[in-house]
Amino acid sequence: MKKIDEVCKILIDYKSFALFTHINADGDAIGSILGLGMSLEIAGKKVKYVVPEPVPVKFNFLKNFQLINKDAEKLSNIEVGILLDAADTNRIDELRSHLEGFGVTVNIDHHLTNGHFATVNFVDGNAPSTTAIVLEILEHAHLPINADISNALFAGLLTDTGSFHYPNANRDAFLYGAKLLDYGADPAFIANKIFEMDTMPHQKLLGLALLRMEVTDRIAYSYIMRKDIEEFNASDEDTEGIIDVMRKIRDAEYIVLFKETRKREVRVSLRGKNSADVRIIAEQFGGGGHRAAAGCTIGEQMQEAINEVLSLIKEIRKE
Ligand code: 5GP
Ligand code: MN
Repeated sequence: MKKIDEVCKILIDYKSFALFTHINADGDAIGSILGLGMSLEIAGKKVKYVVPEPVPVKFNFLKNFQLINKDAEKLSNIEVGILLDAADTNRIDELRSHLEGFGVTVNIDHHLTNGHFATVNFVDGNAPSTTAIVLEILEHAHLPINADISNALFAGLLTDTGSFHYPNANRDAFLYGAKLLDYGADPAFIANKIFEMDTMPHQKLLGLALLRMEVTDRIAYSYIMRKDIEEFNASDEDTEGIIDVMRKIRDAEYIVLFKETRKREVRVSLRGKNSADVRIIAEQFGGGGHRAAAGCTIGEQMQEAINEVLSLIKEIRKE
């Protein structure tokens, strides 16, 4: 049986599903669990949405957002655990044991590094977003797709392609987008809710990161310390999107933002342009992602983390 048929059979045969996605959930993570979940619910299934905290509130305009982590402790009578948009089960932190407790697990993802850890794995490294794969699955299974579902799926497509700017914005990405419009998605509404809702603390942190940005050898980098976040009364979510503004700098091919976490580790966000492959860099530090966007966490002081990542980039470029 083809993978897509195996996934569709599970969605049709079983009655209850827990949908998981990764830590630091982004638009594709939230969009794929909500899009799939809404459709399953309309089809009469029981659905739980489980997301590692903190859940990014900026996506609260999507229908069913308020159901995320509601009664999440009551997973014992759910039959199937599905993990979306995550290359491996480490990406859900301590929720990992919950997912592994299910008799049947499904893995739906578009990361090339995916570890194929589930009972059924549907991984398409060419898909521009996990929500694009969800759309394919819903159509293939003849499950419902309405305007709310297509808005959630479009949110994932829009954010994971960098508003159709990244190299993964291939022909399929536009075709999926067009299909979602046919199902009722409203791109202007979604873009407004996602890109024009910056908070003041976010804009202050952005200003600080840009002031501190250095560009050497086609590498642009900056950093944000915990005390900066506290000074502006900001949350971790307020650091999202800063790298996407940094990435606009001309001539840089590697763009890196270092953020000190609550646990005093360093969270590294990487973006690559042209032939730069940032996934290779992130993987060296135990992270992963895509060629053009990747990340990792380094358990060291800020200055050490910066030195190590910059030297690795310079080394890899020589090869
Ligand atoms: P961001 O910089 O936005 O946090 O992450 C960019 C992309 O890199 C994410 O969409 C995700 O695919 C990937 N990514 C980020 N952090 C990690 C990580 O720690 N492990 C893995 N495997 N992928 C990551
Ligand atoms: Mn994704």
